Amino acid sequence: MRDSLAIVGGGPAGMMAAIRAAEVLGDGRRVVLFDKNERLGRKIYLTGKGRCNLTNRRGWEEFAPHIHPNQGFLKNAFRAFSNEDVIRFFEEELDVPTVTQQGQRVYPASLVAGDVARALERRVQELGVDVRRGVTVASLAELAGFGAVIIATGGKSYPVTGSTGDGYRFAEEAGHTVTPVFPSETALFPKDYDPGLPGIEMKNVGLHLYVDRTLVESDQGDFNFTGDGLESGIAYHLSRRAVWALCNGQRVDIVLDLKPALTEDQLKNRLQREKLAGGFWDREHFSASGTKTRAAEPVADRPFRNLLRRFLPETLVAPFLRANPDLTAENLPRRLKNWNFRIIDYKGFDRAVVTAGGVSLKEIVPKTMASRLRPGLYFCGEVLDLDGDTGGYNLQIAFSTGSLAGLSAAKYLL
Ligand SMILES: Cc1cc2nc3c(=O)[nH]c(=O)nc-3n(C[C@H](O)[C@H](O)[C@H](O)COP(=O)(O)OP(=O)(O)OC[C@H]3O[C@@H](n4cnc5c(N)ncnc54)[C@H](O)[C@@H]3O)c2cc1C
Repeated sequence: MRDSLAIVGGGPAGMMAAIRAAEVLGDGRRVVLFDKNERLGRKIYLTGKGRCNLTNRRGWEEFAPHIHPNQGFLKNAFRAFSNEDVIRFFEEELDVPTVTQQGQRVYPASLVAGDVARALERRVQELGVDVRRGVTVASLAELAGFGAVIIATGGKSYPVTGSTGDGYRFAEEAGHTVTPVFPSETALFPKDYDPGLPGIEMKNVGLHLYVDRTLVESDQGDFNFTGDGLESGIAYHLSRRAVWALCNGQRVDIVLDLKPALTEDQLKNRLQREKLAGGFWDREHFSASGTKTRAAEPVADRPFRNLLRRFLPETLVAPFLRANPDLTAENLPRRLKNWNFRIIDYKGFDRAVVTAGGVSLKEIVPKTMASRLRPGLYFCGEVLDLDGDTGGYNLQIAFSTGSLAGLSAAKYLL
């Protein structure tokens, strides 16, 4: 066994490592791939809502800001096996045509995630890798007989897929530091969550994240209100810092800007024009339900609701009015740009897309993915303290670091 490589974890990172190592060694039997599941790459089947957003086509300069917490660490691995290399690999070597969609997101042309998982598994088998299915590795010590070991056990999110954080234990066994892990790319749950909001899809809005009342991050784009809170798109993007702040007992607010393309003054002007055109400002004050608050005023709610409909999706009008019981013509522009959600909770590892934190990058050589502490030990994929935004970044991390770890471990053996 001393001339063999053990890879723990048959996800995208582990399979990529196995493929590269088998190619370099020229003998797949010298690569032993362990996975606790019978089927490899179980998580891949869930990715991209079953369509698998396998990478993102942006060039490094635009790609890098989507990598956390240390984009520089990924640079070598990305250069060695870039997003364009991944696309070529799938198209030319695995016979999986791809398609590039909005936001430079790359999918298999079939839009079937299983095609990606099965193609990787097929290549692993073609190369003759010794795949040990349904085997849970319990400790690093179990693998002491192997000449080299790669840990590709993933993070802790969606543990039903097999990623239960075992690799952190293995890393600590080897003396590595594991930074605190927390769920990321996950739903954020607000205080007094209006029951009218779940199910509403927000398009091209702004979100601002405040921690302890200080603005720390903003983004513009789409997200959804779901039963779990503010979810997907830009809400996921802000969730990394939001969850970390909540874990540290800090106050977290998300401010929704419903009109990011307009300033408050521009909104005021637009409202003024609407007023002149439609005579909507017969009254100045509106209650939470949208009913008038001054009995003497004869104007029905309808004109004001109609006005709001010009600025908001229909479904949002009632929740917006409930959230702004003191809405007036004066404060409407400001309220449209500042709908505050105090965040009090988040979806945990069972439903988070990715795990932030992990094996400290300070103890890993970025050019090889080798442990600085134990010769012959390598790490790749989500087990590392490296994660990306949604958009194909996490699978690219897995492919780039997996490829480099496989290559380096095989060279080490040779
Ligand atoms: C719902 C969902 C959707 C996602 N969509 C996308 C997307 O579209 N695009 C994108 O880029 N990323 C997406 N991600 C993130 C992406 O799937 C992960 O970042 C990626 O799978 C990590 O790869 P990995 O190989 O490091 O770990 P994993 O995929 O988690 O694989 C780890 C493997 O190790 C095995 N294992 C663990 N411990 C042991 C042990 N002790 N013994 C034996 N085997 C073990 C597990 O069974 C598992 O198969 C999504 C994640 C989720 C949860």
